[in-house]
Amino acid sequence: MTHPLFDLSDRVALVTGSSRGIGREIAEGLAEAGATVVLHGRDADRLEQTRADFAGRFGDDRIRAVAFDITDADQVVAGVAEAERTAGPIRILVNNAGVQHRVPLLDLDPADWQRVIDTNLTSAFLVGRTVARGMIERGRGKIINIASVQTDLARASIGAYTASKGGVRNLTRAMTVEWAEHGIQINALAPGYIHTEMTQKLVDDEAFNSWIVGRTPARRWGRTLDLKGPAVWLASDGSDFVNGQVVFVDGGMTVVV
Ligand code: NDP
Repeated sequence: MTHPLFDLSDRVALVTGSSRGIGREIAEGLAEAGATVVLHGRDADRLEQTRADFAGRFGDDRIRAVAFDITDADQVVAGVAEAERTAGPIRILVNNAGVQHRVPLLDLDPADWQRVIDTNLTSAFLVGRTVARGMIERGRGKIINIASVQTDLARASIGAYTASKGGVRNLTRAMTVEWAEHGIQINALAPGYIHTEMTQKLVDDEAFNSWIVGRTPARRWGRTLDLKGPAVWLASDGSDFVNGQVVFVDGGMTVVV
């Protein structure tokens, strides 16, 4: 039985980038806590696979899917409208979709810099404010922006990503200062090194893998499962006075040298 503070029944959640990886796991956690979930991605086939899988477990009427590119302002407005038309007003938004691009700053093509910033940071502004307009009208809502340990820590070869995730922290604060008074809690979840498709190459790299395990007090990679509990908490009434925070879910990586 779900504790009433964490019960998300009858609440609609949109999780961007939930066709796979961390977003999929968070979407699953919210559905398990009772939410109606709108799944999202760009690749329609992949999205449909995830939708069908979720619908089989949670019921067709609690699972929707909408495909759009989060870097395109017009698609964002149309996509959010479609999500709300099929599922109802969005009470919980998780800005999760993101990309990585590993090239040193001196060699980085400005177009790739821009793509990473657009996907990881500008999208949270675009999707966030589109959804927030309705949340403000209704006087309540939860926004969870997915940050990273790179919100706090730099690592060579991922400068655009690091800048984008630092931006996510301050965007979370900027949203808080403007929207918290309307009953909306906006927080960021900052995962450590989590084993997903995005990080598969790093897991396969023996030297990098042992460096990560050694650098993490918990002595392991994170699992997507590790994000579920914190996401359900930040999406629920259990976090109603938590505003503008970055919650690191990183096995302790950011508190040690
Ligand atoms: P994945 O690469 O596994 O999944 C990315 C998701 O985002 C997919 O659903 C993808 O859908 C979607 N997506 C990417 N670009 C766009 C776009 N322009 N428009 C719409 N959807 C898009 O990523 P992870 O699960 O690893 O990462 C998810 C989030 O967590 C990201 O913000 C990432 O920065 C963050 N993170 C990840 C960590 C890790 O170790 N994996 C650590 C810290 C943070 P499609 O392919 O259909 O476009």
